[in-house]
Amino acid sequence: MNVNRDTEQRLPTGCGEIRKLLIANRGEIAVRVMRTARAMGIQTVAVYSDADANALHVREADEAVRLGPASARESYLDVDKVIAAARQCGADAVHPGYGFLSENAGFVRALAEAGLIFVGPPESAIAAMGDKSAAKARMQAASVPLVPGYHGDDQSDALLQSEADRMGYPVLIKACAGGGGKGMRVVEQAREFQAALDSCRRESRAAFGDERMLIEKYLTQPRHVEVQVFCDSHGSGVYLFERDCSVQRRHQKVLEEAPAPGLTPALRREMGEAAVRAAREIGYVGAGTIEFLLDAPQPGSESHGAFYFMEMNTRLQVEHPVTEMITGEDLVEWQLRIARGEPLPRQQDELELKGHSFEARLYAEDPDNDFLPATGLLERFRLDLIGAGLAGAEVENAQQASGSTALKVRLDSGVAEGDDVSMHYDPMLAKLITFGPSREQALDALLRALAALEIRGVTTNRAFLTRLAAHPDFRAAHLDTRFIERHHASLF
Ligand code: ADP
Repeated sequence: MNVNRDTEQRLPTGCGEIRKLLIANRGEIAVRVMRTARAMGIQTVAVYSDADANALHVREADEAVRLGPASARESYLDVDKVIAAARQCGADAVHPGYGFLSENAGFVRALAEAGLIFVGPPESAIAAMGDKSAAKARMQAASVPLVPGYHGDDQSDALLQSEADRMGYPVLIKACAGGGGKGMRVVEQAREFQAALDSCRRESRAAFGDERMLIEKYLTQPRHVEVQVFCDSHGSGVYLFERDCSVQRRHQKVLEEAPAPGLTPALRREMGEAAVRAAREIGYVGAGTIEFLLDAPQPGSESHGAFYFMEMNTRLQVEHPVTEMITGEDLVEWQLRIARGEPLPRQQDELELKGHSFEARLYAEDPDNDFLPATGLLERFRLDLIGAGLAGAEVENAQQASGSTALKVRLDSGVAEGDDVSMHYDPMLAKLITFGPSREQALDALLRALAALEIRGVTTNRAFLTRLAAHPDFRAAHLDTRFIERHHASLF
């Protein structure tokens, strides 16, 4: 005991031994976090709402605590209830997953006050990135490139309009307090500016109680390229390369891959180093993602491509498995080790790209009916690898790091055959992830794995994902954030 106490005394604030971990989330991410915790000998506690009493994440946990009724506000988003649950079961740490309370600075503060470890960054780092305008000012100080634009304090209509005129149209008006695409409008020409500004202010006031706006040059064909970073509590930081998440529908990611195709090693290093600089500027600790817009020339062009900071997500991302696949590292293990106060598991020069990986997000929704969420009893839900000619592929669901260059298929699911899919939460059922030595091999594996999914009882976007992944322009890596919009005719 004494030894432990001595160790804990030397640990940085917010760190310590983790014997029991409460996962303040549901669905696939809760299940995925538990898998690593279990492998590390850590006891797991699930929390659930009444709609999830029999959910997979509850069945997988060592213990489970009820939070409240189905509504997220009265369950997964209720800070007091989550903290009471952690106290009740004697957990020493809380992993927030993504979404829900994961980027809530008040939650992090309340955990600290309760003497619980938060598996995530310090409250101050979350707050620093919460406001788009303040975040841009911090990034400018760290010499991280920004999209040309205005993010100043003077918020008069006349000044904002003159800044937009100066940078040239099209411009994008963004709410400083924004998120989820709210309070954001593209303005094509000067005479439309005032009306767009009024409408952004209205929307932002209603959604965030704040009407401050920033203006950015609107990039017409950018790629969304984000860098995975990790920092420990001893001041070190590394990047685990990047992901291309350009294939989006209404700013929601659909298909992701790593690494970003076509990046030169020099640009990869430049973006990686800028991302680590960004994280260190705000005293970051743990897993974070720096999202950049890459104004890249399409393949064939000579230019290197300019990248601009967009925002930082101060949590584990949905698409983290593609990074795990290409590096052979377990990012949840990294998070837990850093939360225990350990140094980074690897140095920058020990990290290498081992191949290529794709992730497809399987949603319970109907692409033929305006992507309306679907519900029902999941009568059948299996991955028939043998039938798909993937019998030789390693099915990676145990997070074994492997240097092998064989094909891998991984299904991170929040549901199992026989489960009910309800309409209460995010309709994402599972993520299908593949790995191959080359982009072509990983993409072929994705197509075969999509075909190998047997799903009955609930409508999903599987056929839509298949059309996307099979599109010749996707195979050619002609990517930008308007990919789906541009290929609408052949995708629907
Ligand atoms: P939110 O926080 O509301 O999600 P973001 O600032 O992250 O808003 O932007 C969301 C998406 O909007 C990006 O992924 C990108 O596709 C697009 N976007 C944002 N800024 C620009 C820009 N300056 N030019 C072109 N597209 C942009």
